[in-house]
Amino acid sequence: PVSLVWFRQDLRVKDNPALQAANDFGTVVPIFIKDTSIDAEEQPGGAANWWLHHSLTALNDRLNGHLQFFEGDPKKLIPELVEKFDAKAVFWNRCYEPAAIERDTQIKQSLKETDCAVSSFNASLLWEPMSIRKQDGGVYKVFTPYYRKGCLQASSPRYPVPSPERITYSSVDNIGCSLSSLNLLPTLDWAADFTNHWQPGEKGAAKHLSDFIHNAASGYEDQRNIPSVKGTSRLSPHLHFGEISPNQVWYALIDAFEQPDNKHLDCYLSELGWREFSYYLLFHFPSLPTQNFNGQFDHFTWRNKEDEFTAWTKGQTGIPIVDAGMRELWQTGYMHNRVRMIVGSFLVKNLLVDWRKGERWFWDCLLDADRASNSASWQWIAGSGADAAPYFRIFNPVLQGEKFDKHGEYVKKYCPELARMPDKYIHKPWDAPANILAHAGVVLGKNYPKPIADLKASRQRALDAYAETKGK
Ligand code: FAD
Repeated sequence: PVSLVWFRQDLRVKDNPALQAANDFGTVVPIFIKDTSIDAEEQPGGAANWWLHHSLTALNDRLNGHLQFFEGDPKKLIPELVEKFDAKAVFWNRCYEPAAIERDTQIKQSLKETDCAVSSFNASLLWEPMSIRKQDGGVYKVFTPYYRKGCLQASSPRYPVPSPERITYSSVDNIGCSLSSLNLLPTLDWAADFTNHWQPGEKGAAKHLSDFIHNAASGYEDQRNIPSVKGTSRLSPHLHFGEISPNQVWYALIDAFEQPDNKHLDCYLSELGWREFSYYLLFHFPSLPTQNFNGQFDHFTWRNKEDEFTAWTKGQTGIPIVDAGMRELWQTGYMHNRVRMIVGSFLVKNLLVDWRKGERWFWDCLLDADRASNSASWQWIAGSGADAAPYFRIFNPVLQGEKFDKHGEYVKKYCPELARMPDKYIHKPWDAPANILAHAGVVLGKNYPKPIADLKASRQRALDAYAETKGK
């Protein structure tokens, strides 16, 4: 019998339960649908689409060119394809975004009336959100008990399944469109440099994992906060598109460490846990991407100054570590986690710009843009999220820079106009005496901006705004 395998956020062959099951069932027709039925704000952003295009190219190669591409509403297309190919089963791996859940439920429902079976699997989470509850049946809102009690103590993640030895494809016609006609690649040439940093697809994911295990995993806890070194795994876009499963990563890391009791291992696994927690929150609180988790923030008065927001997006705020981060994002489609927190805090607290505006910018520019992790992290930074950083903890970007980018290597890489500033002033050029600025060739307001916010005054303004909200 013929079966459809609908690829979505599981663009891999290894450890792919839906593909495995379809192959066991009969002959396989692999398909991908660019879903036009989903709301514009949930459609992948520009950078993610760039990734998607290349990832689909890699997957299609891996499937010997059998992947069929479609564009449209899957609720209509899937039943049509079932009929066209006389498929007796459809297989997919589950997605957890609210719109995807609704769509998939409808498709399941409509196929119930046919002789085509539907089976779905978990391929992208270690613990699915619907299976984790507190003892009293409630939903966890704090990470540590969620992760320690709800996840780790309850069950071990499943072991990855190997790739099918051989995939048997159906001998049906390819009635799909070409990948290029999906128009995923940006018309703007801004993504040209991405290929120098990334290799989308299953192979690139495996390589990143192996590089990380060999070069950085054993020092992860110490190095992961230093943006100038490759101290983290950079697996986030690969995980988002499912080119590697968290299960593969989880067990590869455990195997790589001889002793299970290791602070670096624990720290890395718990970061995967944060990814799980983000999905958990999105699943149980579907308005997470658009509404304050903590309703108190509904009364918050944002300033939302457009010129300041633009300066932030362009890496022209005059705060070196913030500018370096925003430029890293633009140039490479990625930003180091520590710096994401710094730029996020600066936007939301020092500039008082609504976190949703930052979330949107990241959504468009991040290769790993992920509905769950992005919205949960922005709410965390804003102080409005579950288990969020308390609002009054406002990152000081100068102190953060001095601590995590001591010699300014990261800043100098992305803000070359500051390359000759001495360590002492690299994170606060506005404090440098005139002769030092002149020697470094920096003219504030000319070749590097003056700060758009006074850090001390804007910090106080943020605290006042928060106090006012609390009083409402
Ligand atoms: P590693 O340190 O190697 O961590 C391993 C994996 O754990 C990551 O690949 C990621 O899947 C997961 N992870 C690590 N930290 C977090 C975290 N805080 N929250 C959730 N998962 C985590 N991550 C995304 O994948 N997509 C996003 O859209 C996204 N937006 C963010 C927005 C803001 C404002 C902030 C502060 C963080 C955001 N993150 C997002 C989380 C984190 O910054 C990235 O996952 C991490 O930087 C990816 O780099 P890495 O793969 O080298 O991480």
